[in-house]
Amino acid sequence: MVDIIKPPSMLGILGGGQLGRFFVISAQKMGYKVTVLDPDKNSPAGRIADIHLCTSYEDTSALDSIKKTCIAVTIEFENIPATTLEYLETDLIVRPSSKAVSVVQNRIHEKAFFMDNHFPVGPFVVISDIESLALVTNEIYPAILKIAQFGYDGKGQAYVANRKELEYAFEEFNRKPCILEKKLLLEAEVSVVLVRASNGKKVNFPVIENQHISGILDISITPARVSNSLCMDAIHYAELIASKLNYIGVMGVEFFISNEKIYVNEVAPRPHNSGHHSLDSCDFNQFDQQVFALTDTPLNNPKLIKNAVMVNLLGDIWFKNGKLSPLNFDIFESSSKEILYIYGKSEARPGRKMGHFTVIGNDTEGILIRANKIKSLLSKNVSKD
Ligand code: ADP
Ligand code: MG
Repeated sequence: MVDIIKPPSMLGILGGGQLGRFFVISAQKMGYKVTVLDPDKNSPAGRIADIHLCTSYEDTSALDSIKKTCIAVTIEFENIPATTLEYLETDLIVRPSSKAVSVVQNRIHEKAFFMDNHFPVGPFVVISDIESLALVTNEIYPAILKIAQFGYDGKGQAYVANRKELEYAFEEFNRKPCILEKKLLLEAEVSVVLVRASNGKKVNFPVIENQHISGILDISITPARVSNSLCMDAIHYAELIASKLNYIGVMGVEFFISNEKIYVNEVAPRPHNSGHHSLDSCDFNQFDQQVFALTDTPLNNPKLIKNAVMVNLLGDIWFKNGKLSPLNFDIFESSSKEILYIYGKSEARPGRKMGHFTVIGNDTEGILIRANKIKSLLSKNVSKD
């Protein structure tokens, strides 16, 4: 039997964006205290944490202070240096481990892990240096060049139709190591949010269907409108990935569906944007589960109470004729079926995730229509001011 870490113990989280903020809310709701490490003084999670260490992820005095005050630490984004996690691991519970994070924070390591374990992936080539461009054959085009580390929300990616464009994009990325992936014709994208406890127990949320615009998640629909057998495949691969990485915590696995086959796209070592619907549609949301896995509180299988459509709100809609202007949120019905979240970021920028809303109900097509209606009204920036 492992000991449950009980409130009011202090938990730590590295990263203070919206995912961190929801973790803080879940943990505090259960009576824990939370320290957030994030260099941004206005970070959404830092602003509501018990302690905000506003400094770099490599600041050893801050890491030492986490060691003194926290019992267990988790992360909210994959680009936390693995060395930081290793440093904390010598004295604290760190979930997920530096080892698991270091595999999935680098697309080259991640692809090697998928290949070694025979997970289905689309055609790709590693471009580690200028010489490796010579090994690329024409079957790969059209393709997407992805920088191996530090890309997110479609950043650090370039569409390339031929060798010339590939060479140009690789130079633009300062010849940093990359993966070149064949651009698949997608029928759908789905994700699985899975939780694995330290005793190996795994639970998962229902499979989610995702629609992206310009590489950024736009809409998520739960449960996914894809065949049962594809959903079972997705859950099977997500479980296998978690076990092979000896992963502890919440993990999001993204999949492509092309030609009626499923391909693993990538793993996020943290709660996933597509799982935000669980804040309103499930008995325990993905951030509650993150707290449970971190504290060894026994996991229970999350129950989907209502179907859900989640829509991301990017900074773009805060601009009218190129000028920042207030949004009119009156268009939301005052009911518990349409729930709006604004993350409290200090500045709206195009492409920046500023908030999201979720519409819940029993009829997926009905809530999808309503969500699209709200989305189109908001994107017209119908402010009365
Ligand atoms: P990020 O880390 O930014 O989420 P992804 O690799 O998941 O990067 O790419 C973002 C989105 O771009 C995907 O969800 C998908 O819509 C599209 N995309 C990425 N790779 C491919 C591919 N090989 N074929 C088709 N679409 C792709
Ligand atoms: Mg992705």
